[in-house]
Order: sequence, then C-alpha cells, then structure tokens
Amino acid sequence: MSTEKTTTTTDHPDDRERHDVVVVGGGPAGLQAALTLGRMHRRVLLLDAGGYRNDPADLMHNFLTHDGRPPAEFRALGRAELATYATVEVRDVAATSVVPDGDGFLVGTEAGNVATRLVLLATGVRDTLPDKPGLDGLFGTVAAHCPFCHGHEYAGRPVAVLGSHAHVGRQAAMLAPIASELVVLTDGGTLDDENAAQLAVLGAAVRTEPVSGFCRSALGARVSFGTGPDVEVGGILVGTTFAQSAPFAADLGLTLLGSGCVEVDPMGRTSLPGVFAAGDLAHVAALPMPMSSVLASAAAGQLAASACVAELLARDVGVLVPA
Ligand SMILES: Cc1cc2nc3c(=O)[nH]c(=O)nc-3n(C[C@H](O)[C@H](O)[C@H](O)COP(=O)(O)OP(=O)(O)OC[C@H]3O[C@@H](n4cnc5c(N)ncnc54)[C@H](O)[C@@H]3O)c2cc1C
Repeated sequence: MSTEKTTTTTDHPDDRERHDVVVVGGGPAGLQAALTLGRMHRRVLLLDAGGYRNDPADLMHNFLTHDGRPPAEFRALGRAELATYATVEVRDVAATSVVPDGDGFLVGTEAGNVATRLVLLATGVRDTLPDKPGLDGLFGTVAAHCPFCHGHEYAGRPVAVLGSHAHVGRQAAMLAPIASELVVLTDGGTLDDENAAQLAVLGAAVRTEPVSGFCRSALGARVSFGTGPDVEVGGILVGTTFAQSAPFAADLGLTLLGSGCVEVDPMGRTSLPGVFAAGDLAHVAALPMPMSSVLASAAAGQLAASACVAELLARDVGVLVPA
C-alpha cells in the first residue's frame, strides 16, 4: 500500500486554493507550529510582521541547547528548517485582519487576502516599562523582567528589584541565591506588611525615595534618586505591563483571561472553533499565569499545530484523534 500523499482529503470546492492553516506570527510559537504542520504535509502559510518580544535582548537563556544564543540567530535557524518543507511558505508581511469566511477564514495582508481553513494566532505580546529615564536602554541586558531568563547573568553582584507591588518579596526571594545583595527600590511606593516581612527575612535593603533615573555603569547600572546617594547594581529586575501585539483576538471576540491573554485549552484551542493560539498571547487557565518563555512558546506552538491536524482529520475523514 502506497503511503505517498501530497494533497489533503476534503469536500470543500475551494480547498485547492486555500491554506490548511495560516500561522500569524514568526516567533518561537509560530515557527514551531509551522514546522509541525509542515512535517504533516499540511499547506501552511506563516506571516511575520518582523517584531519580536525579545527584540531588546542580546541573548536568550533557559532553553537547552540554545542557552546564550542571540534570539535572531534562533529564528534564522528555525526559518532554515522550515525552508526544507515543501508545503510551508513564509511571508515577511503583516496580517491586517482575520475574519470568518464560510467554514474557514480570510486573512488580510498588505499584499491581499489569503483564504485558509484554520488560523493559528502566535502574535505574542508587547511590554511597557515603568516610565523612568534610562531604563529602556538597559532592558534586555542589565534590566530584565524575568529572573529565569536574565538573573544568573547578574550573579555575585548587587541586584535591584524595582517597585512596591505585591510580588516584590517573591521576586527578591528568587534572586537571593544569585545576587551578592539585594536592594528594593520602592520608587516612592509603600510596601505592604507581607512583602516588608519577606524582605526583612532576606536581609534586603529598601530604598523608598523616588527613582530619578538609570544609567549604564561598569558594574551594570547606576540608580539615581531625587534625594540620597546613588546605588550601583549588577542587574535590575523590573515588572512590565503587557498587551496583545495584534488586534485579532479582540476582532474575533475570543475569550480572554484576566491576564489579558487568550484563553486556550492545553491544546491551544480558543473559544472560536477553527482558531488556535500559542505562545505569549495565550494562557491555559489551569496555569497560574501565561508561561512566557521561548521554550514554552515553541512547545505550545507544537501542541496547537497538532490540534490543527486533529481538527483537519476530523473534518475531512471523520477521524477523531485524541488531542
Ligand atoms: C527583554 C526580554 C528578554 C527575554 N528573554 C528571554 C530568554 O532569555 N529566554 C526565554 O525563554 N524567554 C525570554 N523572553 C520571553 C520570550 O521572548 C517570549 O516568551 C517569546 O518570544 C514568545 O514567543 P511568541 O512566539 O509567543 O511571540 P514573539 O516572539 O513576540 O513573536 C510574535 C510574532 O508575531 C508577529 N506578529 C505580531 N503581529 C503580527 C501581525 N499583525 N501580522 C503578522 N505577524 C505579526 C511578530 O512579527 C512575531 O513574529 C524575553 C522577553 C523579553 C521581553
């Protein structure tokens, strides 16, 4: 029996013209999704607008075999792997709209509309930093929002945690085994009793004056205050606020969680049949927060892509795959 098969089975008259899946986004989630779909000989189009969450970072960490690799190099390796799969096409163009169209979708681009049976959103989120002079230029190297990604790099030096929010104590505690000493910069804010107690246990210094700015220094960064002496640190942990990079989740009316991310089941299915989501823009409700990392995003892309395959098999052949 021959196993050769280059087209998919379907009853839809337009399916020779349609993609099986349009993947919107070419970060780790979208790249991995396209690889999984390409390996299953599905006709997949990946659209990439060219802006990535970790653009500010020189290096990415905490991904086995890629620890310390420049993010752009990681993506270039991914693109090269995709190029070996005949049914995968990558276009460096932004999607401008995603709208339901019969039993599929029309994805608008600057170069015209693309018809697809399924959509996999992997458009990520974008960060906004506290508005402090100099902080922007340090973000991704000396300043970071995630101690798993950038923390070890500050080892053996003083580390600052910026803010007086509810998680300051937890963030400081995570950095305690790494930093030579900890200083919390409340920037004029007040710590609640719980956080103050946690910081006392850690022996962290607390500076309560408003921070007037940051600049790069030999050790890492110099912090200036409205009053009082400067502090020099090897790294700064700073919380960001983030928002969806693209409007498609809102446009399609997808259910969002309190995190601001698209609610997905563990296989990346959203509240709208035919639309899947993976990576930083998505959140499995059972998890305490969106699991934002390169590896977690790639893994989510793989799962969502396999759910797309299952959906196509169910539609075309009536095969129900436990996914
Ligand atoms: C400063 C910083 C450093 C980080 N360092 C690390 C680290 O060391 N290790 C780690 O594991 N994680 C790190 N992260 C987290 C990591 O960057 C993200 O978890 C990961 O990039 C998420 O992947 P993604 O594919 O979901 O989104 P992204 O990588 O953000 O990719 C989104 C994709 O969607 C595309 N897109 C958006 N809108 C459109 C549109 N309209 N049309 C077409 N395409 C569109 C973009 O062009 C891009 O291709 C870091 C984050 C930051 C902010």
